[in-house]
Amino acid sequence: MAELIKNYIAGEWVDSASGETFESYNPANGEVLATAPKSTSDDVDAAVKAAKAAYQQWRLTPAPRRGEILFRVAQILTDRKDDLARLMTQEMGKIIAETRGDVQEAIDMAYYMGGEGRRLMGYTAPVEMPNKFGMAIRDSVGVVGVITPWNFPVAVPSWKILPALIAGNTIVWKPGEDVPASAAMFVKVFIDAGLPKGVINLVTGAGDTGAALVEHPGVRIISFTGSTETGIKVYTKAASLGKKVTLEMGGKNAIIVLDDANLDLAVDAITWSAYGTTGQRCTATSRLIVQSGIKPKLLERLVEKAKSLRLGDGLDETVDVGPLVNQKALDKVEHYMQVGKDEGVTVLCGGQRATDVGAGFFFQPTLLDGVSADMRVAQEEIFGPVLSVIEVESLEEAIEVNNNVAYGLSSSIFTENVNAAFKAIRDLTTGIVYINHGTTGAEIQFPFGGTRGTGNGMREAGQAALDSFTEWKSVYVDYSGQLQRAQIDTDKVLGEQ
Ligand code: ADP
Repeated sequence: MAELIKNYIAGEWVDSASGETFESYNPANGEVLATAPKSTSDDVDAAVKAAKAAYQQWRLTPAPRRGEILFRVAQILTDRKDDLARLMTQEMGKIIAETRGDVQEAIDMAYYMGGEGRRLMGYTAPVEMPNKFGMAIRDSVGVVGVITPWNFPVAVPSWKILPALIAGNTIVWKPGEDVPASAAMFVKVFIDAGLPKGVINLVTGAGDTGAALVEHPGVRIISFTGSTETGIKVYTKAASLGKKVTLEMGGKNAIIVLDDANLDLAVDAITWSAYGTTGQRCTATSRLIVQSGIKPKLLERLVEKAKSLRLGDGLDETVDVGPLVNQKALDKVEHYMQVGKDEGVTVLCGGQRATDVGAGFFFQPTLLDGVSADMRVAQEEIFGPVLSVIEVESLEEAIEVNNNVAYGLSSSIFTENVNAAFKAIRDLTTGIVYINHGTTGAEIQFPFGGTRGTGNGMREAGQAALDSFTEWKSVYVDYSGQLQRAQIDTDKVLGEQ
């Protein structure tokens, strides 16, 4: 029976004031999984008021105490890892090993940000006057609006919620509309960890619920992950209201394989980066930029590997690739198959819906050859298990092709040549660069985010995340007890000493 999800506002599980609901489905079989509130601007308003009311107490809670709650979040997540993973697999389709990894990222982030409770470092610097002290400290900001997609139902929200909380902010979270049950289970973890009422609030719903959050005057920061199209809308609206925004948007990530690459490593990394999570990660590999010498051998191995992948329900531990998330995602991938055909690509394997695995939104792992760097299939985000192969002659050409897209999240190069690797590190213009590793698998202690159309210059994770959720406060303490004419005439003041 479908689970009944509610909003979580001011420490209570409540329905939408409108009484309206929507459903989430299991993409592997079409079963209704949960019914959740279709929240209106009134619900968002109630949630923001609750977050505002909780803010004063939370910001004055010593950061080490806030950190202890985050450590408890980590422990409870560890205890409930399998339950959460199973629910996520049912709700958005990726295989159970990947949803376990999704929870693990939140656990790692909870420990990391919990530790920040005893750091949250500011700095001191010398000041220009005698008997005066200066320091810069990180200050909390207020209510943070968190808007997230469905592809990492726990990890992506955790990258936003945990740093925002440790910094002393309170939260209103609008999760992806495909994953309300996973979101509710994640919120339960915070409740059971002892987070005070009103510090985290959940409002489920579609884009209009997110838009109400962006527009609410009580929300000071918006942290968004999703499509570039929506992200730019959010950014534009929030900018007109003078809000701070962190954006994580699309990707068109590439793996470069040079002639001297270790073939076994490259085949494995490309397969999992391209087809893992059914290609629905913002860091997924959707372009293979390959030097001509190694291309025939590499493609032969990749086709063999892609054909060997087992599609099916992600709860089955023997399955490699789950379904796409919904009909819209399937339609988009099918649309790009037509685009590719019209552009003259060759389908080496896959290219169509997988109909032998039941009624779910399954699509065959697909390899497209004969792709040139400027084709739409090589430029636009498809967000499915589709890899476009672009042949190049040199490292320089590979780097140019990599950089010449509208996105800049992740890139990778396979080579045994240390000089080529360092040139790639220097010249690849993405926010994340891997050497001899696929384009996925970022760790939470380093900044995460991308250049160009992927972001707006902000980063998640690591110390960089704190910049998104704090503002600097510069403090000057004059302990001279004297009138000091600062800066007007420094020589004279010094002379008067
Ligand atoms: P996808 O559905 O492909 O993940 P979207 O960018 O459409 O990507 O959605 C990401 C998140 O943004 C979801 O939670 C969605 O409901 C929300 N959203 C969609 N439209 C808007 C909008 N206009 N304003 C704020 N949030 C939105």
